[in-house]
Parts: sequence; C-alpha cells; structure tokens
Amino acid sequence: MIIDLSRLRSEYFAFPSAGEVLTDTLGASPSVSSLKDFPSRVATKSGSLEELLQREHIVDSGAALRAIDEASTGLIILPPEYRIGEDAVRDLVVYDLDSMLRLDSMAVQRRLLGDDATGHRLSKKRKQQYAWSPEKVMSAAFSILGEEGDIEAIHSTIGWFGRDQHRRILSLYRSVQGAELRAFQNMVAYKLLIPTFRKALRTGKYGDRVLDDALKNDLAMKVLKYERYVTRHNLKSSLSRLDVDFTDLIDVSEIPFASGTKVVQVPSQRKTLNDSYQFKLTGIPFVEGNKITEAYSEVWEARGKCYCKDKTYRSDRRVSAHDEDFFCAHEISAYHTLRRKNEGEDVHVPLLPFLIPTKEMIGFVDKLRYQTIMLTYRPQTQRWSKRTLNHTEMENLMFKKVMRDGYEACFTTSIDRFREEKYNPDLDLVRFRN
Ligand SMILES: [Zn+2]
Repeated sequence: MIIDLSRLRSEYFAFPSAGEVLTDTLGASPSVSSLKDFPSRVATKSGSLEELLQREHIVDSGAALRAIDEASTGLIILPPEYRIGEDAVRDLVVYDLDSMLRLDSMAVQRRLLGDDATGHRLSKKRKQQYAWSPEKVMSAAFSILGEEGDIEAIHSTIGWFGRDQHRRILSLYRSVQGAELRAFQNMVAYKLLIPTFRKALRTGKYGDRVLDDALKNDLAMKVLKYERYVTRHNLKSSLSRLDVDFTDLIDVSEIPFASGTKVVQVPSQRKTLNDSYQFKLTGIPFVEGNKITEAYSEVWEARGKCYCKDKTYRSDRRVSAHDEDFFCAHEISAYHTLRRKNEGEDVHVPLLPFLIPTKEMIGFVDKLRYQTIMLTYRPQTQRWSKRTLNHTEMENLMFKKVMRDGYEACFTTSIDRFREEKYNPDLDLVRFRN
C-alpha cells in the first residue's frame, strides 16, 4: 500500500476511486468511450479495447495475468466477467465450498502422505508425526490447485478445521492487509518510540518504572537499532510527516490468561468508529524451548475474537453444524506481532498459518489497487461504467496468480525464509508518497 502523507490519518488506508486511478495512470479522467484515445492494457485474450466495448472479447485469465505483469506503469482494464457483486461476495466467501481451498482435503493428504492418507481429519498426534507445517500444507494445496483447478473459475479463501470443530477461513487479501497493518505499526514504532526511549534514557524513568541497568541497555540498544534502520532506508522525512499516535501501535497486554490466550490492541485502519480494537487471541501456538513438534498441531488452532465489521459479517454465514471463524486483518497483524515479540524467548511462536506476500505478490496487489479499473455493462441501460475492484475480486485474481506462478513465488508463512533471502517485506508493504 501507498500512504499519501499529504492526507489525513483516516485516509491512509483508503484506496483510489476509478476516477483517481485514471488520473494517476493517464493524467486525465476520460469517459469510457474516450478511453481508446489513451494507452492502456486490456486484460482479455486479444487485448483489444474495441472488441471489449463491442462485447466480442474472450475471457482468458492467463492473458489477463500477462497484461497485469506487463503493466509496470499505466492503466489496466479488466472485462466485466471478473465482477463479483456484493451479494455474491457474502455468499461466496462463506457459503461456497467449491471456491475455497480446503487444507483438510483428501487430495492434500494424498499428496503429502501417500498411502497413509485416510481422508479423515488428522489428529493432533498425526499432525505432529507428519510435521504438518503451514508452509508444507499450503504449498501442497496450491500446487494441486494449480495442476487440477480451473483458472477461469472463481476462487476465494483457504479453510481448515481446528479441534474445536470450528472452520478457520483465511483470505489471501486479508493476509496481505494483516501484513500491511503490521508493517504500518513498525513504521509508527520507529516514529514514536525513538523519542520516547530517548526521553526515558535522559530522565532515568520509563513510565512508572525507574530504569535499572538492564532496561537502560535494552532501550539504548533499541534506539540505536531503530535509528540505523531509519537512516539506512531514508525514512526520516516521511516519518516526520506521518500523522500517528500511540493508538497506532499494536499492543500485547501483559495481563496473564490461560496459556495460549492474550489480549491485544490493534489500530483501526480507518479510525472512523474506533481508534483501535481490543480483543482476545486464543489457541496461540506457543511452544516451549525447542519442542517444535508441538507447533505442527497447535498452529492450526489459532483463533481471534475481533469484533470489527469485516470479521462479524464474514463469520458464521453458512447454515452448518460448525462455527466459522474468518480471520480479519487485525487478528492477523496481532499474530505477527506476538510472534515477533516472543522471538528468542523460551516460550515462543515458531509457526503461524498466515501468509506473508512476496515482493512479487505485493506488487501485483498494488497494481490491482492503483492501476486497475474494471468496465461493467448494464444491458438495461446499454451503458458502460468503470469501477475499482472490491476485496473479493482482488482475492480471485490473487488466487489465479498463485495457480499460475506457484505458492513459493507468491507467499510464505515463514519470515525466516525472507531473512535468509535478506528481504524485508515492510518496505514494500508500506510505501510513502510525499
Ligand atoms: Zn478485526
């Protein structure tokens, strides 16, 4: 995402309208009939705008992905077949099992376990025995989808069951938003915590606590590390203009609960109703020491109890014997924070089931947000209109990309992979425009 620093904080997470996409990519906002006078890439089989406007185009998702690939700048135009309207959105995300990538399926088991596959959901013991890690399972599920799935069908969300019989539903797009919110909070931390820690070092007091040597060293190290980061990535002037406060930090409460439960506070993206959400995470896959085997079963139990609209309206929609938990961006960002906070501790979170996008996938999503419009046609009025994509339409296209390019090119669940590649996704997840 791009944060426009000339805007208000409540607009940081808003994306451009169709008119703004046109102005940004073409320098003008032409009507549909005048689009032909401007350069653009049309995401259909032939790529002809004229053919599209005469409704003689052929849908070809491979060609659509190529058009998006090739448009490093400029306008991308999608045909109306990629439209998924609001009614369909609610139904699709939670009702339609055909569009969901199911990690408990027989096909995934067969791919990973061969003759040991039973089709029954794996017990805790068997998940541990087979090292049922998110990275391995996601990779297998997506590779089956890439080989056997229909790229022209509508795809949306990943699902699996926990031991509580709740179906967890994870969206690719919410995964990106969760990673963005986490990267945003990191930027906020660089802005707010450097002066806070400096002041503590100067006064010898941090909140109500008097600094002892250990805390003094810890804060001094952090200041040094943060300042180095800000300098190395040339963030100083952008951060000075970032309009944020302490409610923009993700906070994990120290109040103790049963093992595997924490209360967290996560900023609201738009800040229109709430500054932040405070809620519980349960089933946190904490592991003691090097007992990584336990993580293979516990990682699938993660749950959140956020009460934002996104979660509330997308969970429990199906008439079914199972509760359904749709992970929202707040929960995902809180899990990333919790993992980071406990890194290197004896009790830590070695595995998470949430997808972190690669540079390639971040670029793809940003093209859909900032460079793409969809043309839709109403036969009743015989008129074309232009619009930007909703979350489910982006999700569907993201799935198509993973089907074509493979899981590893698009996502990982392991930040260690990026560390080995010396890649820091934060700087692509949140970019600044002055
Ligand atoms: Zn939420």
